[in-house]
Amino acid sequence: MSNSVYVNRTLNLKRIRYIGLDMDHTLIRYNAHEFEKLSHQAIKEKLVKNRNYPAVILDLPFDYNLAIRGLVIDRQKGNTLKLNRHSAIRASHHGLKSIDFKTQQKIYKSTYIDLSDKQYLAVDTAFSISLATLFSQIIELKEAQPNLAVPDFATVADDVLHALDEAHRDGSLKETVKKDLKKYIIKDPELVAGLEKFKKHGKKIFIATNSDFHYTKLLLDYAINPFLKDHRTWLDLFEIVITSAQKPRFFFDDLKYLKVNPADGTMTNVDEKLVPGVYQGGSAQVFTKDLGLEGDEILYIGDHIYGDILRLKKDCGWRTAMVIEELADEVKGNKTAEPLNQEIDLLMKKKEPLEDEFTEIMTKKSDGVAANHQNSLDTLQKQITEIDAQISGLIKKQQVLYNQHWGQLMRAGNEESYFAYQVDRYACIYMAKLSDLLQLSPRTYFRAPRRPLSHEIL
Ligand code: IMP
Ligand code: MG
Repeated sequence: MSNSVYVNRTLNLKRIRYIGLDMDHTLIRYNAHEFEKLSHQAIKEKLVKNRNYPAVILDLPFDYNLAIRGLVIDRQKGNTLKLNRHSAIRASHHGLKSIDFKTQQKIYKSTYIDLSDKQYLAVDTAFSISLATLFSQIIELKEAQPNLAVPDFATVADDVLHALDEAHRDGSLKETVKKDLKKYIIKDPELVAGLEKFKKHGKKIFIATNSDFHYTKLLLDYAINPFLKDHRTWLDLFEIVITSAQKPRFFFDDLKYLKVNPADGTMTNVDEKLVPGVYQGGSAQVFTKDLGLEGDEILYIGDHIYGDILRLKKDCGWRTAMVIEELADEVKGNKTAEPLNQEIDLLMKKKEPLEDEFTEIMTKKSDGVAANHQNSLDTLQKQITEIDAQISGLIKKQQVLYNQHWGQLMRAGNEESYFAYQVDRYACIYMAKLSDLLQLSPRTYFRAPRRPLSHEIL
């Protein structure tokens, strides 16, 4: 079995009858660098035009690497934070500058962040990179030029968020994508072949997307139809297509379905049970009931932890798979980092007995047992400091293999990142792209690896 699908919870594909797909960034792959650049530009223009931001912000260049998914924006303090699995801050930036540990401790009384607090804004979709990069750039500019007419940090965060939301809704982004699909959308013939294979094995495939019907049709016509072998169009391939689904509400609320006429996008009310076709809105609950399914006979695959996966897992009982585009680079980085990690481990092994010895002497000193220990303590401290310097050099080398500003997506220092924790908790399986799953047999049994608890490690 390919090892490019990663397993958190055992999942037997034989049991799955319906496979649901999110569209944007799951079924349809974007050229994320180009799309986020476009989005960065659209936000800047809206801020200047509608919210009187100074025109100099138009000159802020787009740099995709200034942010990664999983970061958290502190609206009040104007900082960007990277958290570990316990939501403790492990790295922080103010504007584009890294905040050193001591300053960070002074700013944040507790290291733990309460993510339900409105002060914090999660950077959690593939569409939020433009938001996070521009937010940091504007904070940087505001600090460098305090006389510029830029509002307080929290207002900047809200303004950037609203401008991005508007750009997605008012057609600013979608109209541009439509004019140059080749630039923004990646075609993947293997994926289409995989979908047809799964269908041949009796799996029904459906889409539940937050995109509206016209945009959905545009992307599916472009990226699916040309590669179909056993079907005429995507309308034949997909059993049901749910547009404007309003996820995550789709998974826990009771919104009504409307039937969409795919010929012209017109809509009518639905009174009877769901049948194959195109819809708008609706709910997972009615979907499961109308099709006579058990929740665990449906596998839903999405890219957004909150919109696609988290609420679904909490409220709906369907099985979950997550597409994490960044994973391909992360895994590549991990392979290259392996020799560095081994060196770090060796140094840690060398350091631990020195630290133990140091502690022992210090204890004796406090107990008044040994008399002359200062020399030994000094020597030990010097050795420990030397090893620490070597380790931090190696960590720096290791970090540049990932995002140069934020390091790994799935790790925060030695621990899992908050993002990794959410993936672990809510996604049954995960992979870099949908075709990684579709190239496998539709009868695959995904077995979760046994993971030792701390006290089980020998
Ligand atoms: P999905 O991933 O297929 O469910 O679709 C995501 C849809 O949400 C796309 O049409 C995006 O343009 C849209 N979208 C993403 N972010 C925002 C936002 O902040 N406001 C409004 N729409 C958004
Ligand atoms: Mg999506």
